[in-house]
Amino acid sequence: MYAHSTEDVSKVLRFCNAQKIPITPWGAGTSLEANPVSIYGGVCLDLSRMNAILEIRPRDLQVRVQPGVVLQELNKRLSKHGLFFPPDPGAPCTIGGMVANNAAGIQAIKYGPTKNYVIRMEVVLANGDVIHCGTNAMRTSSGYDLVHLFIGSEGTLGVFTEITLKLAGLPREVSAATASFPEIPQATKTVVEIMQAGLSPAALELMDPVTVRDINAFKNLSLPELPTLFLEFRGNGSEVMEDLQLTQEICEGNDCKGYQIAIGREERDRLWEARHHAFYASAAANPGKRAIVVDVAVPISRLPEMVEVARRALAEHGLQGPILGHAGDGNFHVGIFYDDTQEGKAKANTVNNTIVFRAIELGGTATGEHGVGMGKIHFMQAEHGKSYELMKEIKRLLDPNGILNPGKIF
Ligand SMILES: Cc1cc2nc3c(=O)[nH]c(=O)nc-3n(C[C@H](O)[C@H](O)[C@H](O)COP(=O)(O)OP(=O)(O)OC[C@H]3O[C@@H](n4cnc5c(N)ncnc54)[C@H](O)[C@@H]3O)c2cc1C
Repeated sequence: MYAHSTEDVSKVLRFCNAQKIPITPWGAGTSLEANPVSIYGGVCLDLSRMNAILEIRPRDLQVRVQPGVVLQELNKRLSKHGLFFPPDPGAPCTIGGMVANNAAGIQAIKYGPTKNYVIRMEVVLANGDVIHCGTNAMRTSSGYDLVHLFIGSEGTLGVFTEITLKLAGLPREVSAATASFPEIPQATKTVVEIMQAGLSPAALELMDPVTVRDINAFKNLSLPELPTLFLEFRGNGSEVMEDLQLTQEICEGNDCKGYQIAIGREERDRLWEARHHAFYASAAANPGKRAIVVDVAVPISRLPEMVEVARRALAEHGLQGPILGHAGDGNFHVGIFYDDTQEGKAKANTVNNTIVFRAIELGGTATGEHGVGMGKIHFMQAEHGKSYELMKEIKRLLDPNGILNPGKIF
């Protein structure tokens, strides 16, 4: 069912609540944890037609949008004002879906995830009531922070019908580099050293040789099939080149075999496009297989250890899969590809559990950016302990009939 207005959303929620019919919001459906899938049937409420950019306030660096606005279209419009909304999952997703998942992506290392940008929202509650939370001020200490309660709620607490975002200015200088290493530990150590040196890359992505091989095949590239870092720096002056040079020194101190600096815009766009297609590249390299996508994040100093845990777990169970991700934030993904058999699934689950429970032990999280959806539910108790019970209480308070996206998070 398509919603066209806040009133539509309110009416349908009121009806579903009275009839106890499950209702699941849908943005663009690009989630990786089945977050918008109506597993108990009922209404799938598609917000993609509520896609108006309602107000651009360049002098306040703010924009007010309906939830169905697509990220790339928003940034195209904002660029005319020298502004942009930085979180970038790479997929053609909606702002509503990004807020509901607290999406992050490659630039979050410099700019932070979606939750850093949402300042005001209109939300329709399960009973159809419409509320407004937040303000247009850049800071507020006024009462409980309901805006941040709704961010990351994956459609389980209310439906967002208007969102006000703060924005960033487009940088004048953008420069990128790639660095390849003989072995993965040298690459992950480099990531830690770059971050500990206080450098502030706009992207610092790790790709293992499996990922590089898959994207070479998928995008017809010829990157060296070695552990590789993609780096990008953004700024308004000479600091960009200085940062790239300092990064080069750190890379070379860790046995970097190829540091390609200040690659041209076309090449840079090609590399980022390839990085954004890594998920599809790996799927294409594993026809007929199923996959679990790991999305752990750990404190940066534990990144090398965590990547080794993942590599060992895959090898011990005879599985292959790409290891890649937003390493500068301590967030990485493992695509655990497995045969669609009971044995294959059991092995993949064991590998997944080994990686995620270790990340939680190290003070990390089961999901750095994809959300809980269905796939991460069984880690929630271990990660949150008693706080998980409080989350359930909040859910009961806001959605006593359990109609909003049932079967997700809990
Ligand atoms: C190739 C690929 C790469 C990706 N890379 C990244 C990445 O690097 N980083 C990252 O963070 N994510 C990544 N993702 C995941 C995904 O793109 C993001 O989670 C995105 O924010 C989902 O937005 P969507 O519009 O597709 O939402 P959907 O998938 O449609 O929905 C997401 C959740 O939001 C809820 N929802 C949607 N609209 C509303 C609303 N108006 N009100 C309340 N709830 C709502 C849904 O019920 C669901 O729970 C990737 C996905 C793909 C396919």
